Amino acid sequence: MKKIIIAIDGHSSTGKSTVAKKLAKTLNYKYVDTGAMYRTVTLYALRNNLISVAEVEENKLISALNDININFEYNPEENSNDVFLNGENVENEIRKMHVSDHVSAIAKIDKVREKLVAIQQEIGKDKGIVMDGRDIGSVVFPEAELKIFMTASAEVRAERRYQELKKKGENITFEEVFQNVKSRDEVDSSRANSPLIQAKDAIKVDNSEMSQDQQFELILNLAKERIKD
Ligand code: C5P
Repeated sequence: MKKIIIAIDGHSSTGKSTVAKKLAKTLNYKYVDTGAMYRTVTLYALRNNLISVAEVEENKLISALNDININFEYNPEENSNDVFLNGENVENEIRKMHVSDHVSAIAKIDKVREKLVAIQQEIGKDKGIVMDGRDIGSVVFPEAELKIFMTASAEVRAERRYQELKKKGENITFEEVFQNVKSRDEVDSSRANSPLIQAKDAIKVDNSEMSQDQQFELILNLAKERIKD
């Protein structure tokens, strides 16, 4: 059967990875969460004091890029891939708010994007992949056979993320999550390099009022059509 590339882009906390993971499993495709890669570089920068309150030590981070090794390993308990930074499993750490607060500033840096996009293109070169992020359909795989652009109102997205973080025991208010979601949208959409945009040939899915099952069925049917073509 023909293998395709499925690009799932969209705003923060739209549930892209939940639907992408399920899709990859159903189609027996690889799944790559590219946000996890930007989060991992951010964690490295935080741990190495390359981010102060006001700014990122951009040149030092660029010099350190060769020391940052990112890879994914399958976690059978979660039935998904965990991300590793230089051999350490950082899957939980990168989801925390201190990483979310700085990731968009790191993702603006051209050299960071260059490195991560090259890794993403290498992982996806044989197709049979579902990749989620911000620029997959526009920059990483402009030739992707199926492009989805997921969105939902900022309130709905912040509420979903807030519930997730609370479940994980993070001590956080809804307002903090809401501000983070809005400010990441703003920085991601207005940056010069690979801004978050809906690719011309992407299908928009606003899931503010859709269940996870409804979104999944919709996207799975679109994928099946493209695989048949
Ligand atoms: O998807 P997630 O919310 O984990 O992504 C975290 C951040 O990483 C985004 O807010 C964005 O700044 C950056 N990102 C990006 N390009 C991607 C994926 C994520 O710039 N392809």
